[in-house]
Amino acid sequence: MSDEQRRDGIAQALQAVEARIAKACAAAGRPRSEVRLIAVTKTFPAVDAALLTDLGQTDLAENRDQEAGPKAEEVRRLRPGASPRWHMVGRLQRNKARSVVRWADEVQSVDSVRLADALAKAVRAAVEAGERPGPLDVLVQASLDDDPSRGGCPLTQLGELADHVAGLEGLRLRGVMAVAPLGADPAEAFARLAGAASGLRRDHPGAVELSAGMSGDLEPAIAHGSTCVRVGTALLGARGLASP
Ligand SMILES: *Cc1c(COP(=O)(O)O)cnc(C)c1O
Repeated sequence: MSDEQRRDGIAQALQAVEARIAKACAAAGRPRSEVRLIAVTKTFPAVDAALLTDLGQTDLAENRDQEAGPKAEEVRRLRPGASPRWHMVGRLQRNKARSVVRWADEVQSVDSVRLADALAKAVRAAVEAGERPGPLDVLVQASLDDDPSRGGCPLTQLGELADHVAGLEGLRLRGVMAVAPLGADPAEAFARLAGAASGLRRDHPGAVELSAGMSGDLEPAIAHGSTCVRVGTALLGARGLASP
C-alpha cells in the first residue's frame, strides 16, 4: 500500500471516529470540546503516527516503552515540524521509569505508590539531565474488575494513591484512567468509575481528566463523563493476533 492510500484510509477512519464522538457527545448533552481523541498507535509503524499528525491528530498513545521510545524518535525525524503529545497507557514496570520519561508527555497507567515514586525520581533526573522540560502529567489507573493481571488500583485505594501522586515533586496529577472489564457491561463499570473520579476531583480540583472508552465502548464512556477516549483499532485497523 502506498503512503497516499494509507493516508486516505486513516483519514476516512478518523472521520468515522470523529462522527461517533460527536454523536455520543450530542446524545449526552455535552459539548464536543470536552472530549479529546487519543490515537493508540501501538504495533503500528511510525509512518502511521506521522500520517496521523498530518491529519491534525496530535495526541498519540503507546503501551510498551521498548516500542514507543524509538517510535517517538522516528516520528520526530519524519515530521520535525509536528509536535505530537505522547501518552503511555500500558502496564509499566518501575525499571522502565527512567526510559519512559524521555518520550512520554503523560503517563495514564500509574497504579501504585511505588511506580509513582519511581516516575517522580526519574522525572527529576531527566530534567536535571536536560532530557525533558518539566513535570510529567499523570493519571491514576483504576481497576474496574479487581483483576491484578490487567493493571489498575482498586477503587477503594484510589484516593490514597491520588493523594500520594499529588504530593510528589515532578508529577502533576491530572485525573483517572480505566479500561472496561472484559465480558461485562461497560456502562455499569464506567458509572462506577465516574463516581470515583468525581470524588477524587473534590480533593484534587486539577484532576479533571477521565480517560475511558476505546474503539468498542467509546459511546458509554462519553455518556459517563469521559474526557479522553483512547482509540486504536477503529483508526488503524486490527492488530495482529500475537500483539498486545
Ligand atoms: C490498545 C489500547 C487501547 C485501544 O484499544 P482499541 O480497542 O484498539 O481501540 C486503549 N487503551 C489501552 C490501555 C490500550 O492498551
